[in-house]
Amino acid sequence: MRPEILNPLFSPLTSLKGIGSQYLRLISALCNGSRAADLLWHLPSSIVDRRYGAPLSEAKAGNIWTGLIRVIRHEEPKSRKQPYRIEVEDETGSLTLNFFKWYPGVLKKNLPENGLRVISGKLESFNGHLQMNHPDYIGLSDSLEKLQSIEPIYPLCAGVSNKLVLRVMSEALARLPHLPEWQDASFVKQQNFPSWYEALYQAHKPQSIADTLPQVPARRRLAYDELLADQLALAMVRARNKKQAGHVLAGDGLLRRRFLEILEFELTNAQKRVLKEIAADMAQPYTMLRLLQGDVGSGKTAVAFMSMLNAVECRRQAALMAPTEILAKQHFDTLSVWAGALGIKIALLTGAIKGKKRMLLLEKLASGKIDILIGTHALFTQSVSFSNLAFVVIDEQHRFGVNQRLSLSAKGDRPDILVMTATPIPRTLVLTQYGDMDYSQIDELPKGRLPVDTRVVPLSKSDEVVAGLKRKIESGSRAYWVCPLVEETQKSDLAAARHRFETLCQIFGAENVGLVHGKMKDKEKDAVMERFKKGVIKLLVATTVIEVGVNVPEATVMIIEHAEHFGLAQLHQLRGRIKRGFEASTCILLYGAPLSETARERLNIMKKSEDGFLIAEKDLELRGGGEILGTRQSGFENFRLAQLPEHKDLLFAAHKDAELVLNMDKNLQTPRGQALKLLLYLFEKDETTKTYKAG
Ligand code: ADP
Ligand code: MG
Repeated sequence: MRPEILNPLFSPLTSLKGIGSQYLRLISALCNGSRAADLLWHLPSSIVDRRYGAPLSEAKAGNIWTGLIRVIRHEEPKSRKQPYRIEVEDETGSLTLNFFKWYPGVLKKNLPENGLRVISGKLESFNGHLQMNHPDYIGLSDSLEKLQSIEPIYPLCAGVSNKLVLRVMSEALARLPHLPEWQDASFVKQQNFPSWYEALYQAHKPQSIADTLPQVPARRRLAYDELLADQLALAMVRARNKKQAGHVLAGDGLLRRRFLEILEFELTNAQKRVLKEIAADMAQPYTMLRLLQGDVGSGKTAVAFMSMLNAVECRRQAALMAPTEILAKQHFDTLSVWAGALGIKIALLTGAIKGKKRMLLLEKLASGKIDILIGTHALFTQSVSFSNLAFVVIDEQHRFGVNQRLSLSAKGDRPDILVMTATPIPRTLVLTQYGDMDYSQIDELPKGRLPVDTRVVPLSKSDEVVAGLKRKIESGSRAYWVCPLVEETQKSDLAAARHRFETLCQIFGAENVGLVHGKMKDKEKDAVMERFKKGVIKLLVATTVIEVGVNVPEATVMIIEHAEHFGLAQLHQLRGRIKRGFEASTCILLYGAPLSETARERLNIMKKSEDGFLIAEKDLELRGGGEILGTRQSGFENFRLAQLPEHKDLLFAAHKDAELVLNMDKNLQTPRGQALKLLLYLFEKDETTKTYKAG
């Protein structure tokens, strides 16, 4: 049951005077909801200062003027195409009001000759005479004081005027309840936060433009409330996961020790640390849901495999789920070498495996004769049954949302889940989009990797680039040519790629060039990739569907056409394909001139940095999180009051705060805990709270 004190905030918009059914749809769309609270979260974006009211004889054009006038006379034009003029005056001078759209009856009623009225609007000067076109306000003389103030300006939509928003907002504000403080007293003091009530009030009564910016205390306070509600709800989901009985996976380490002996390299410190974190989590008697982050080439595969070995040591099955068949196959190729040396059973299950072979495989799986199964998401959607699955690794490309992850963890026998991301995700996005998960990061690359030589070159020099490419290929290199992202449709992407493919065939010989694109069947794509891997073809032309995880060690050159159209994270991913480390490789970012200032800056970041996390942060700043997560949305659009990255510091603080709260008061029983329950309700996180209690 929702606490009663919140009722005024949850009352429908229609309960406010002035919002009848005709405005309801518009206003709900404008403020993203139909409760009074939704309206209150619609904050002004600017102000108009209506305090200026110099005597008309001295008043200057360009100002918003607000004052008391007497109407002298109306001049109704002959034609409706001409403006309707009304002469008005104060004690010192006169002013002409112009109306380009007019109804004489309305004007005569609102501004009767000889009447005293208050008007407000922008002063202009015409032939040395003051004018005002369509005053913003016309009111009775007693409204002067109220009007001569600073007016907040709200984001609007067609059909909703600022006047209307102001009117209904003042009603909503009048009903604002005083709520108990849910924030930590010392944090409130340190941040100079007003109370929630005060903060909302101040946010709606800005006294200057500065008051409408994200960094004023009132706005920061409101943002923090929202961020804390979000982080607290996510922390509760994490805590709930930890209450769900799961497998205790703590093997004897035998397989893992043997693996380290046969491994041709030594693990980096970061890999070792992360492995410890994962093993400690797997050993707990609850289900694990953990995100493993690491830049391209940081060695996530070995970490995933060793963690799977832990499950196998416990005589349990493990599965690895890849986003595409080709990546599943590649993982299989790598892991089966390792598994073979250790004498454990590994298998690949994709849609391509059919008939008797598939039946046999499924039988073996169900009877526990397979230790590790690799495949695509088909692993879980088809009638695949394991004998005793206890650990799942998801090599994801951001295809799973919070809810999907929760449903996955509910499946079967509650396996421990490790999600690996292919793209480094900035911390802000980790907290907001993956806040339901625990988190490990490989923040170090294996030693001795050579940097990629990245160059930014205009398209006009592509002849030289092609000549250089020819030399490289003649000396035995293999290269990718990534075709431009054409904005409109996939079709035109394809057309551009085909065209480029044909041109390059003429230069390099058709037998040496291959093409992969998104419209091809997996089988066809696989076949081309195989030929590139084997070196039958030397140059691979690809649209962005190029499988970013695909490993072709001999490929050392990458050319990206119209690189300025790509996201930085995407460019980083692509470039990761040629980062071999032991051999110099070259990445050429071809751009179409002229380049905007930001575009140049973006490409220069690519030139200067190979740090995926830094690049992702920059990408987030420049393009928003949606591009990084591969979704259309920004990733932050669920927030109404918090602005990211502007409120980044508050997000980090809220994350810590939420952990602390739950550590000390896990059922939210203390006075602060009780108040925090209100906060959760206010932001409609009570669903989470409910499942939390039930769980
Ligand atoms: P990613 O994190 O991008 O999935 P991979 O696991 O595919 O990276 O590793 C990239 C390459 O680096 C592989 O060839 C892998 O064998 C190698 N590698 C992984 N860990 C190390 C290490 N500690 N030292 C040297 N090479 C390593
Ligand atoms: Mg990988």
